[in-house]
Amino acid sequence: MFIEPSRRREPPHLRTGWIEVICGSMFSGKTEELIRRLTRARIAKLTVKIFKPALDTRYHEANIVSHSAITIHSTPVQTAGQIPALAGNCDVVGIDEAQFFDKDIVDVCNLLSNQGKRVIVAGLDMDFSGKPFGCIPQLMSTAEYVTKVHAICVVCGDIAHYSYRLVPSQERVLLGETDSYEARCRRCFNLGDEAGRKEWAYEDVEKDD
Ligand code: ZN
Repeated sequence: MFIEPSRRREPPHLRTGWIEVICGSMFSGKTEELIRRLTRARIAKLTVKIFKPALDTRYHEANIVSHSAITIHSTPVQTAGQIPALAGNCDVVGIDEAQFFDKDIVDVCNLLSNQGKRVIVAGLDMDFSGKPFGCIPQLMSTAEYVTKVHAICVVCGDIAHYSYRLVPSQERVLLGETDSYEARCRRCFNLGDEAGRKEWAYEDVEKDD
């Protein structure tokens, strides 16, 4: 569990910012973790601004909505370069679906944190083919804190870190299509359509009795 560093003893003009990255596959709880941290910042009376790429129209235009339907208001932006002006003097900047932003997102996060802001970035670290996604690798290198969250493989129940696509499209981005993916572990991801469902495990246990 990530515990935020204390800023209480620093006078505002001496505060240093930092970057946190929350990454993982689909269904790993990235957005829930982002919302958890932003909620705690608000409890601490810090001002919070939240951004997401305008192309992520899943669920709702202006809200960040996690798979478990927790919601928090966010501002959709077309480019990463728009974020600093919109962030203004806020204390904490949250950015969701960061894998969809242009490469300027790395400079933007550095700029904001150099201004003394806490920047919390959530995003998919791999696409459906298992390749690193967008600028998430650069953000992970640049960040002070990186949290990789994991899903559960729906085939075998192990820890999952791949987003397995259930439909044949080769497009990198299938927006609004969360039903088209499932979380899978390395083994079940590599087995593809050959991956057997979990039922066999129960049969083995019964035979042992
Ligand atoms: Zn598995």
